[in-house]
Amino acid sequence: MTRHAPERMPESAALDLERVRADFPVLHQRVHGRPLVYLDNGATTQKPLAVIEALSGYYRHDNANVHRAVHTLAQRATDAYEAARQRVARFIGAQAPNEVVFVRGTTEAINLVAWSFLRPRLRAGDEIILTGLEHHSNIVPWQLVAEETGARLRVVPVDEQGALILDDFESLFNARTRMLAMAHVSNALGTILPVQEMTDVARRHGVPVLIDGAQAVAHQTVDVQAIGCDFYAFSGHKMYGPTGIGALWGRMSHLQAMRPYQGGGEMIRRVSFEGSEYAPPPARFEAGTPHIAGAVGLGAAVSYLEAIGPDAAGAHERDLLQYATRRAQEIPGLRVIGTAEPKAAILSFVLEGIHAHDVGTILDTEGVAVRVGHLCAMPVMQRFGVPAVARASFAVYNTRDEVDRLIAGLWKVNEVFGR
Ligand code: PLP
Repeated sequence: MTRHAPERMPESAALDLERVRADFPVLHQRVHGRPLVYLDNGATTQKPLAVIEALSGYYRHDNANVHRAVHTLAQRATDAYEAARQRVARFIGAQAPNEVVFVRGTTEAINLVAWSFLRPRLRAGDEIILTGLEHHSNIVPWQLVAEETGARLRVVPVDEQGALILDDFESLFNARTRMLAMAHVSNALGTILPVQEMTDVARRHGVPVLIDGAQAVAHQTVDVQAIGCDFYAFSGHKMYGPTGIGALWGRMSHLQAMRPYQGGGEMIRRVSFEGSEYAPPPARFEAGTPHIAGAVGLGAAVSYLEAIGPDAAGAHERDLLQYATRRAQEIPGLRVIGTAEPKAAILSFVLEGIHAHDVGTILDTEGVAVRVGHLCAMPVMQRFGVPAVARASFAVYNTRDEVDRLIAGLWKVNEVFGR
């Protein structure tokens, strides 16, 4: 197939793409004189009008501090904040809203569990199981608590395609295992992990499980009860919501047993200089004035996603991934990193002999935004023997025409480098 004969197929029938795209004002602009093609959704997604207007509406009409005053605006702000918690809880299948702690994002959620839940239980010689395809946010917090206590990390290996090698998974568990933490979907490879099966194994050994859902929640239905995990972490900004807000879901029995992570206003029941009594979860973990507008925006993002359906969004994105992967094979020198199935709509690749930063810079001049670098997953780069990759990651508003623009941009990169 030549570069001038792209394979044309109908766009996903399930979605009214034109309507979806109309919801995202930022998409309708030119970058370097070309219509923007935004394919950096794994880093952060764009925001629909519903979210932008929820933020604006909150600040225009309801802004006040939460849980603190009896006046009308304070009541409205509190209601809006707690309504967002309810929406998030329902969205992921939590049993009750109080199992949802609002945090800054996935990173803070994992740190909260590492320090509040695991740290007090950890002794020298204990073990934490991670996988070889984790984002740094699901490595470093565990490393920090392990360093403090003399515990150690054990890592599930990754094969050539980017799947976990699970043959010996169960043998990693022993009497010293204190935690299993794993991604739901790899941000670098797109691999969807068999989280339910792996959680079953951990539970057989009485080991609590945290799942990093940063790359999952916007692209498939997530049901924390069905997975059977103990904690589930995700970020609002990767699911069409605002930055600075995310959620940690945890089993109430765990949350109740956890010490606060930070002290301050809102997280106490009673304070004296002799000692303080902590509020029950989730307030116990939400010290200080929270990101109220962010939570309201996240609630709006949840409603937006629910109206489309995360599974419908995921199906459309996987369709784009298959198309993009096929067309990428036309590009001389291109190697896809991460070919394991099942796979979410993340296409990481290297162009032989060309640095990923050059790929990203040239694509940008064509109006195409991709992520380049180690993707905060250096162990994955080491596993595949590359210093960096370029990554196109798809969202519900992307189109086949945009994939064609990416492919044309990659031909341009090769041309610039005389290939
Ligand atoms: N985990 C995964 C799999 C991610 O992709 C990311 C962000 O790229 C994170 C964690 C960190 O998310 P945040 O920066 O929103 O805390």
